Amino acid sequence: MSQQPYPIHYWEAPQSDEIGETLEQFLEQLECPTWIYFPGEDNTRCRVVTTLLHGNEPSGLYAIHQWILSHETPATDLYCFLGSVSAAKHPPARFHHRMVPGRRDLNRCFRPPYNDEEGLIAADLLHRITSVQPEAVIDIHNTSGAGPSFAISTELNQKHIAVSTLFTNRLVVTDLRLGSLMDFDEGDFSITTIECGGAHDPQAHTLAYEGFKRFALTPHLFEDGIDQKKTSDIDLYQHPIRVELIEGTGLAFANTAVEGADITLHQDVERYNFGPICRGTNLGWLGAKGLASLVARDARGYDHVSHYFELQGNCLITKQDLKLFMITKNVAIALSDCLFYLAPI
Ligand SMILES: [Zn+2]
Repeated sequence: MSQQPYPIHYWEAPQSDEIGETLEQFLEQLECPTWIYFPGEDNTRCRVVTTLLHGNEPSGLYAIHQWILSHETPATDLYCFLGSVSAAKHPPARFHHRMVPGRRDLNRCFRPPYNDEEGLIAADLLHRITSVQPEAVIDIHNTSGAGPSFAISTELNQKHIAVSTLFTNRLVVTDLRLGSLMDFDEGDFSITTIECGGAHDPQAHTLAYEGFKRFALTPHLFEDGIDQKKTSDIDLYQHPIRVELIEGTGLAFANTAVEGADITLHQDVERYNFGPICRGTNLGWLGAKGLASLVARDARGYDHVSHYFELQGNCLITKQDLKLFMITKNVAIALSDCLFYLAPI
């Protein structure tokens, strides 16, 4: 860990009369990444909530703001981390930027080297989490596109299921390692990512707050085993494939092939989010480069694009029944991160 980490502010037991009434006022009070401590009923145990690792994903901050206004006391000690405060406040508007332009995505920095500002923040957060030895960690996000809520974990076990079902019944289990917080596996605690749905969807804010309260107030998260009904009700997406665009690809969304675009996806492609789609579905149109504009990587980095897709005329067609998820229509994110994930059915 670093000698002199980038400053993370510490805030102990904030009271409702100390914070702004609105989410925007609350954000303005924050100066930098902030670690908040809420004393619990049982202070022999603790839990951790991290959020705002992406500056354009406000639902977790909303949940914490509402939590402070509610005056409730958590069942155990609770630590909350608010990450990319500077990105969330960066012009032209609050909650506009995922990260400060030109800087690294904080949720890709939880692996060495920890030698720039984001790396130092990530290392400092990992140090804080391991120091308090929580029972569980949740990391609250919003999806880039519209779509339903889901949880993500790096393995399928009862702890992840118990924590996920406080928020949602969809669980993605991934062996893809991107340097995100949940990739950290050197502790005895589970780290579960919660994607609450679109950043501008009021339902995502409500889901974040309701789930946060259950996480904070449930006396024993893992006691008495897990309700088997809950486990069987989980909609599982295991070992997804990450569909990315080759660098320099021109991407468009339209109802017909856009001239000059390497790939045009259907305008309403987001309706496929989490729903199963059948073999033979037309997702859009490809330009002169054909399938070479796309890469479909497994966790080891191998490309399977021609296994899942084929070109018929200029149409992009699925070759087997699939579930697609985390489809984004944000072109910048599609180009810099990924277009969508898929899991074979
Ligand atoms: Zn995020």
